[in-house]
Amino acid sequence: MEKIINVTSPLMPTMERYIEELNKIWNSRWMTNNGPEYVEFQSKLEELLENKVELYVNGHMALDIAIKALELKGEVITTPYTFASTTHALVMNGLTPVFCDIGDDYTIDVDKIEELITDKTCAILAVHVYGCICDVDKIEEIAHRHNLKVIYDAAHAFAVKKKGKSIAGYGDISMFSLHATKVFNSIEGGILAYHDEKYARELRNLRNFGIENEESITSVGLNAKMNEFAAAMGICNLEILEEAIAARRIIVEKYLEIIQCSKGIKTLNYENFKNNDIEYNYAYMPIEIDESITGFTRDDLHSFLKTKNIGARKYFYPIVTDYECYRDKFNSNLTPNAKKVGDRILTLPLSASMTEEEVSRCCNALREMIERKRM
Ligand SMILES: *Cc1c(COP(=O)(O)O)cnc(C)c1O
Repeated sequence: MEKIINVTSPLMPTMERYIEELNKIWNSRWMTNNGPEYVEFQSKLEELLENKVELYVNGHMALDIAIKALELKGEVITTPYTFASTTHALVMNGLTPVFCDIGDDYTIDVDKIEELITDKTCAILAVHVYGCICDVDKIEEIAHRHNLKVIYDAAHAFAVKKKGKSIAGYGDISMFSLHATKVFNSIEGGILAYHDEKYARELRNLRNFGIENEESITSVGLNAKMNEFAAAMGICNLEILEEAIAARRIIVEKYLEIIQCSKGIKTLNYENFKNNDIEYNYAYMPIEIDESITGFTRDDLHSFLKTKNIGARKYFYPIVTDYECYRDKFNSNLTPNAKKVGDRILTLPLSASMTEEEVSRCCNALREMIERKRM
């Protein structure tokens, strides 16, 4: 049997490069609590993301802290088409998620937000799914009109730019995940990007037990600090990020050559990125299978790839409102588009370190499935 190709593989620097950073940590004997690696990584990220930045142990804790810092209460309009983290962060903070359906690009459907707003609504938590940017202008307009806070779960969207500007500046706070499986990682890690100085103190204190200084504890905080080893990995990976995105792009283009000559398989709208001056990060390779045209289902393709030792993933299936922990409280039929997409979506293997041979294996398997059904 051929070697397993996983849906992704983490971005890693050479070991020599990482050891250079490790040497600094051994010399400083500073392993966590805002050490020199943290400070350097933070300052590089502030430049790249064009906003103020705080770093955390992971994206989920960062999101949790963003919610706490904004002192949200009541209902939050969000999407069921996301990773568990987005909804869990709301529920864990005693908030009620109100699920809005998604549009064609898998992000929240801005035309359906306003009908969900009540006098209890305090915020919108939207997700830049697969690195596709939400309709940030419309969301800002709605938030302004109804006096709502806006958080973006930008876990998928590191390095994405719109009209030459980082997307980190939209909303009150944006969260980026630096988990090993994301486009860019610090092993595990999370970023909160923000521009309003008034949030700085809470965003910093909440990740370290609410400690402001030795004798002043300002809030009921957590322990969610990014350590020096993670920051060091982030510094090293940042140096190879551009190459990594370029490598991903080439792989995506190979997939597209095959998909474009078959009907019934929808991909992200790459034309749209070009036309709207969006610099995309090639974070994922989702395809949506319309069985009525292809003659095979998403699950058929998933199983077929598995027989070839290719690990495509149903990302996001099930949608959040169909989780065992949520299905009694929410109704996934109220977001029919999200539900439909969840049943049809498959993300194909994609990483900067895929070899040409691995890419060919994936492409050939996909082609085989498409052609088999055409006969
Ligand atoms: C990965 C992810 C998170 C959580 O990030 P972690 O760093 O893994 O905690 C949150 N939201 C989305 C959409 C994600 O994909």
